[in-house]
Amino acid sequence: MYQVKEMFYSLQGEGARAGRAAVFCRFSKCNLWNGREKDRATSVCRFCDTDIVGTDGQNGGSFDSAQQLSGAIASLWRRAANESSRARPYVVFTGGEPLLQLDSALLHCMHETGFEVAVETNGTLEAPDGIDWICMSPKSNAKIVLTRCDELKLVYPQEDAPPERFSAFQAEHFFLSPMADPQVRFGDDPVKARNTRKALEYCLSHPQWRLTMQMHKLLGID
Ligand code: SF4
Repeated sequence: MYQVKEMFYSLQGEGARAGRAAVFCRFSKCNLWNGREKDRATSVCRFCDTDIVGTDGQNGGSFDSAQQLSGAIASLWRRAANESSRARPYVVFTGGEPLLQLDSALLHCMHETGFEVAVETNGTLEAPDGIDWICMSPKSNAKIVLTRCDELKLVYPQEDAPPERFSAFQAEHFFLSPMADPQVRFGDDPVKARNTRKALEYCLSHPQWRLTMQMHKLLGID
């Protein structure tokens, strides 16, 4: 059984694949926060800006099998993407923490359906073999078990998680994403403006790292 908060077709808003069309499948639940505001201050991850509770979002629900979920994802892609498009179908599993639910059976079904599969994970759980693109976003003192990723995206600044801690990690791309105020979804966010300046200065003095902005928020899309 897979618990999905929401699924939608949009453009990737951040990182090395920014601007690429994908079906986003947001799983419910995370292992670093239960999603309840009253528990935020005592959680390992305290700056989450995503609703990760339940299955009541757009196209969300409980899916009994990998076939059922992969079929729903493929259907979303078919309805949205121009049929003559030569692009390989692309799904991004996100969350919540997707590696709580993404398993070999679902991965196999997505590949059988012709999809390229990406995951956005906090890096604290083992990943099934064969994921095509791993974006890892480490969180404070949470222990990382992944040994490699394609892109490492660090929300910045985080107490106990300075970029230097990750600069030797096995990754192709290194990004800093300015931390936003979790209460501000769109519009003015002075916290983010201040952190953007800090991230920019860090990237200028440490060129291994690149600045990434949440393009989808700037554009006001999902
Ligand atoms: S690890 Fe990611 S999904 Fe989990 S609480 Fe933090 S920001 Fe949210």
